[in-house]
Amino acid sequence: MSAPTLDEIRTRDAADPLNGFRDRFVIPDGLVYLDGNSLGCLPKATPDRIADVVAREWGEDLIRSWNTNDWINAPRRVGAKIAGLIGANDDEVVIADSTSINVFKVLSACLQLDPKRSVLLSERGNFPTDVYMMQGLSALSGGRVATRLVEPDDVIAALDSDAAALLLTQVHYKTGRMRDMAAVTKAAHDKGVPVIWDLSHSAGAVPVDLNASNADFAVGCGYKYLNGGPGAPAFLFAAKRHHEAVFPALSGWLGHEAPFDFDDTYRPAPGIDRFQCGTPGILAISALEVGVDLIAEAGMEALREKSRALSDLFLDLMAERCSEYGFEPACPADSAERGSQASFHHENGYAIMQAIIARGVIGDFRAPDILRFGFAPLYNRFEDVWQAVETIRTVMAEEAWRDPQFQSRRAVT
Ligand SMILES: *Cc1c(COP(=O)(O)O)cnc(C)c1O
Repeated sequence: MSAPTLDEIRTRDAADPLNGFRDRFVIPDGLVYLDGNSLGCLPKATPDRIADVVAREWGEDLIRSWNTNDWINAPRRVGAKIAGLIGANDDEVVIADSTSINVFKVLSACLQLDPKRSVLLSERGNFPTDVYMMQGLSALSGGRVATRLVEPDDVIAALDSDAAALLLTQVHYKTGRMRDMAAVTKAAHDKGVPVIWDLSHSAGAVPVDLNASNADFAVGCGYKYLNGGPGAPAFLFAAKRHHEAVFPALSGWLGHEAPFDFDDTYRPAPGIDRFQCGTPGILAISALEVGVDLIAEAGMEALREKSRALSDLFLDLMAERCSEYGFEPACPADSAERGSQASFHHENGYAIMQAIIARGVIGDFRAPDILRFGFAPLYNRFEDVWQAVETIRTVMAEEAWRDPQFQSRRAVT
């Protein structure tokens, strides 16, 4: 079967029910942006929202805003909106801190659920911060807690009576491989192991149903598919059944039952509020809320359908138009097993990515050899996919990537 022509692709864009959303983002002219899985585009409504929070809420209302502009409830208000995207209840999600810090919180929570268990389990090649946080907790425990990493396909077999938590990223950041959340969670529960899902590449990209899967905890980023802006605050999900069992290791004052009692003794707040720590960044949460509202308006089912079609088209066009250049797919061939991205191995991956970025197609590179392209169905068009593949083809045919300027690695790849 041959891939569609550019005319057919333009017809698809015209018929796309989500095509109106692109105009609600700032997209630089001529740029094909396939990196919304690292940093989502700027919603056009965000600058005005931030300006209002700065000038009016901060500038004029000042400290009163904690009450009058509901700043104090912002982490719960936006958390509830994200809950609707990931199959959680409104009182099970809160915005707080970064994903890394939230990983620490939920790992330490799992260690409290059954004190006889002392192994934190994950897969080799998981996103580094998840694994590093496990190693930090092991060090902090003075030898009680161990970190164990196994090959991705051996995770289920490694579940045992020592495991205190299984931490997995649902959509793998490099390969895009998507885990069956319900099946993995069930297998872990059969062995008495709680599961933490890192949803950094899932939230806003694929429909997630945490409660239907009986998940225990989850975390995820606000700056990727949720379009919350660079370093946007993260979210944390804890299943209601665990709330009262956890004495937060990061027992900050805003997770206290009565912060304004200024008591000498920490008493955890009831429910999800105990997973808050210190004063939330209101400017950043305001930006995140704009991004989350756009995703919620589009609806996860429609986003997923288009996302699958975008990544399928990319893989088909790469197979048809770039087959002689040595790209080896690194992602599952079946879109049902793939998140909203496509990735390829190539020995010259870094230089090729730099060369296509110089021609206005932005993806990213993940060591040692992966070119990664994210598809954000809110603003990416089918024509963007065509442009990206044509640019890759030209860079390969002209061997433009051999230029010395594309060889040296910058700090952020
Ligand atoms: C992007 C990403 C993170 C990032 O964590 P930060 O604390 O925001 O730097 C964590 N986990 C996964 C799986 C990611 O893809």
